[in-house]
Amino acid sequence: MKKYRVGILGATGTVGQRFVQLLQGHPQFEITALAASDRSAGKLYVEACAWKLSGDIPQSVRDIEVHSIEPPLDCDIIFSSLPSPVARETEEAFARAGFPVISNSSSYRMDEDVPLLIPEINHEHVGLIETQRQRRGFGKGFIVTNPNCAVASFAPPLAALHRKFGVESVAVTTMQAISGAGYPGVSSMDISDNVLPYIAGEEPKVETEAQKILGRFANGTVTNADFSVSAQCFRVDVIDGHTASVRVNLRESSTLEDVVDAMKNFPVRKLHSSPDHFIEVLDEPSRPQPRLDRDNGHGMTITVGRIFPDNVFDYRFVSLSHNTVRGAAGSAILNAELLIDKGII
Ligand code: NAP
Repeated sequence: MKKYRVGILGATGTVGQRFVQLLQGHPQFEITALAASDRSAGKLYVEACAWKLSGDIPQSVRDIEVHSIEPPLDCDIIFSSLPSPVARETEEAFARAGFPVISNSSSYRMDEDVPLLIPEINHEHVGLIETQRQRRGFGKGFIVTNPNCAVASFAPPLAALHRKFGVESVAVTTMQAISGAGYPGVSSMDISDNVLPYIAGEEPKVETEAQKILGRFANGTVTNADFSVSAQCFRVDVIDGHTASVRVNLRESSTLEDVVDAMKNFPVRKLHSSPDHFIEVLDEPSRPQPRLDRDNGHGMTITVGRIFPDNVFDYRFVSLSHNTVRGAAGSAILNAELLIDKGII
């Protein structure tokens, strides 16, 4: 199998480290370039990176020199995990220089010519790449994105319901892990023994991204799904794993059995990093829980539980995913696998 050489922007950060970890031993990718801020540029990765994952920094990257974030880098594909204000300009520069840019940041997610991908749900949205290249005058390069980490935790079960019954409206309360704020993130004095009822900029993302993900692609454009989302986002004292409490109204009436079946049997396209179960439904009344379920499917499974009819909405459920794997680096890697599978890379 051909190995593509990949570069990581923001390689020293929370998501960047997860990229480095997940790419170890990957059959299609090898890391050949790492880039971060001027604070890190010029140092070896082992010197620049405050490694926060279990185990040592992998041998294969320890002695790679960290570059600044200007193109070109010595690689075929760019994974970007930069803060969004920096990402906007930098990702465009790499795309213009001919690189496929696979981004985690929010900068381009809602641009109408940029795919916002969950391969199991909307792989056909890659058709936007052609529109993007024409509109922006990119040559071989392009930008694709993956969703906000909280949206990644509940968009899959919502997609299962939308496909079968049509979603009319959604109320979601997210309980988001500390690692979602990057490193060093929220002060321990603020988060310990506490729940923070505000995450800057989060609720607008959670209220808009799912409609694009579940939108229909035709004639070079995506028409967003027609439902409204009301979101409240909380930071909670959990290291990894975002939990979403979801209430939903459906357009067609359905039995509880059909709702559970739609989630359990959602058909998916399999890629190298796809989990055995895209959506896993647990029956135990006390699940899902971040500590017990975030690593299901190597962090790529969405775990759902507590699916019941609701007194105000039609149904409610609780949905959980690993925010730096399915919500970030793992999703971006899956997107790259999809683009290779479709012959776009
Ligand atoms: P982080 O831990 O703060 O890491 C930020 C990275 O970007 C570091 O490598 C840092 O390099 C680099 N950087 C910061 N400012 C820079 C600048 N001005 N120029 C060049 N490089 C700069 O953040 P993170 O949590 O990994 O998040 C990265 C991106 O992914 C953000 O857009 C975030 O919204 C998104 N995201 C995060 C998660 C999550 O769960 N954490 C999930 C989904 C999406 P230095 O080490 O040299 O400072």
